[in-house]
Amino acid sequence: MLLAIFKQFQSKNFAKLLVIQYLLNVMSKTLGIIGGGQLGMMLTEAAQNLDDISKIIVLDPTENCPAAKVGAQQIIADFKDEDAIKKLSELSDIITYEIESGNSDVLKKLEENTEINPSPDTLRIIQDKLLQKQFLQKNGIAVAEFEKIENKEELNQMIDKMGLPLLLKTRRDAYDGRGNYKINSKSEIDDALDLFSGKTLMVEKFVKFEKEVSVIAARNTKGEISTYPVVENIHENNILRTTIAPGRVSETVRKEAEKIAEKTMEVLHGAGVFGIEMFVTSDDEILINEIAPRVHNSGHHTLQSCNTSQFEQHLRAILGMELGDSSIKTPTIMYNILGPKTFQGEYNVLFKKQDNIHLKMYGKLESKPQRKIGHVNIVDVENRGMEELLKQVEDLKKNLVIEPKES
Ligand code: AMP
Repeated sequence: MLLAIFKQFQSKNFAKLLVIQYLLNVMSKTLGIIGGGQLGMMLTEAAQNLDDISKIIVLDPTENCPAAKVGAQQIIADFKDEDAIKKLSELSDIITYEIESGNSDVLKKLEENTEINPSPDTLRIIQDKLLQKQFLQKNGIAVAEFEKIENKEELNQMIDKMGLPLLLKTRRDAYDGRGNYKINSKSEIDDALDLFSGKTLMVEKFVKFEKEVSVIAARNTKGEISTYPVVENIHENNILRTTIAPGRVSETVRKEAEKIAEKTMEVLHGAGVFGIEMFVTSDDEILINEIAPRVHNSGHHTLQSCNTSQFEQHLRAILGMELGDSSIKTPTIMYNILGPKTFQGEYNVLFKKQDNIHLKMYGKLESKPQRKIGHVNIVDVENRGMEELLKQVEDLKKNLVIEPKES
């Protein structure tokens, strides 16, 4: 008798569990990500911890890309491959991206059937630096003086108008400074134009900035906005090397930078996390340099410094969930690990473990000169102050070694 009651109780609970499991499966979504590099990898890891997402598929041309290595399914194809993007959209309930060079025209066509965040319209504006700057200017957000140029004559005119030095920039598909040429004298004009021949171009006045800072900002599909505290970025050879979080800026600059980021998110309308890079001049003027419509390298510190990482925040934003706490709990310095200039190929990482240093490698098979292959977050758990953390960065520069793997 007792056994029969127990069995009935058990089977009722089992049925309940099955129903709950079924509902979770029905409610949770397949996430498609265009790009499966390190950003796609960390988005995948964050998605694996969210009940609302049951499966992750990335589109990336590199077989066994970093995101696939941590468990995402992969479609192997170029980021702009129309058929592959269509396939991804058929398999996904929602699409996002980790790169801004995606095909916004194709995404626009697919938007009717698959939710895409940030929206293809937002992507279209941001992926063209000229449209991006025009959009910001139209909305009253300060940027450096800029102009579209189409030929040598117009470039000459702009040099006469803006003075030297001046930056010649490709409008699309440029990152880590690769689409920029700093023109110091008129004798460099031909070289600069040759380098970018066949590309659409713009010029920008050279800003003598005091600091480069950024704000990681999130806007969810309901229009709620949340910004992370402003951070300070140090570049080497145009590549981000170190992020100091929070940034060592005055209270006025901090408030202003965060206000500018919030306003940018209001006018952009896109849902997701955006990296907003800014220049701070010696008289504390703040100009937006560039917006990335995606999680951003200068937000990697949030993996340890905040309760909600930028990767989780991005997913919360695109899924229309409530945004998480974005305050910095523990000051942190992020230091990028770049492939040494001396070799290309498989590698070993030599690194002495320390309690407050979190090493994150991206699982890339090969190191290439200046390629981002990992980062460390140095966390101020003992409240020793930024100067001490900076000393740890200096030690790391000497002690963290990437060396060729013996074959
Ligand atoms: P970008 O790829 O356009 O973000 O530029 C890469 C780096 O070039 C920035 O992080 C700045 O250090 C520098 N840069 C870009 N635009 C300007 C500018 N108008 N004035 C001075 N430096 C710039």
